[in-house]
Amino acid sequence: MSPVIPFVVAVDGPAGSGKSSVSKAVARRLGFGFLDTGAAYRALAWHVEASGVDTDDAASVVACLDSFDYRIGTDPAGYAVHVGDIDVTDAIRDPQISAVVSAVARVPEVRRHLIELFRAIMATVDAPGIVAEGRDITTVVAPDAPVRILLTASEAVRMGRRSAELAGSSAEAAGEQLRKRDAADSKVVDFMTAADGVTTVDSTELDFDQTVDAVLGVIRAAQPVVAPER
Ligand code: C5P
Repeated sequence: MSPVIPFVVAVDGPAGSGKSSVSKAVARRLGFGFLDTGAAYRALAWHVEASGVDTDDAASVVACLDSFDYRIGTDPAGYAVHVGDIDVTDAIRDPQISAVVSAVARVPEVRRHLIELFRAIMATVDAPGIVAEGRDITTVVAPDAPVRILLTASEAVRMGRRSAELAGSSAEAAGEQLRKRDAADSKVVDFMTAADGVTTVDSTELDFDQTVDAVLGVIRAAQPVVAPER
């Protein structure tokens, strides 16, 4: 019997578009797994820093891949990220990691290594499907996914959402960091324009639940059997 291939929903988008929380909620609604690929880049940045290595030194970052023992859960209800025995779920959200993650993510060997890992996780998920989100999922990681979505929002709205998430940081500081990260990341992958066959969901005027429903609507239109009306 041939193996059952999980149904992949690929979600791209810039920082603050809501792609992580929306993708997680969509996965829960469908009984699917969830893969946050940004968490892997963040965990690697955490590991590089914990190893005392300069995140701007590409050769040393690549050398850290050998000792990068990364595990991420795919259950959207109980999601945790580990490096070795250490639970880094919260630590990787630290602004210090956000500030250095783009430098780690732009190294081609790092991307090749993590893309292989993502494909393996998607292929073996213990669920009928998986919602995978990141910046290059629709174009590089899973260009053949049956549903591909670009989740966007205006820059002002994205900054407002991100600063609301970061307790203690001013709206300006959060906005500035997000702008810098988008600028650095967009040199590596174009996540602001939808590739051919990718559906754009603009959440600028939508609240969280409406955005989840909009994404479910796209999945339902493409595959009514996978996302039945409830
Ligand atoms: O999505 P999140 O903001 O957690 O991603 C953190 C960083 O990881 C991004 O700023 C980007 O540098 C990198 N990333 C990437 N490709 C992905 C996901 C994240 O380069 N698919």
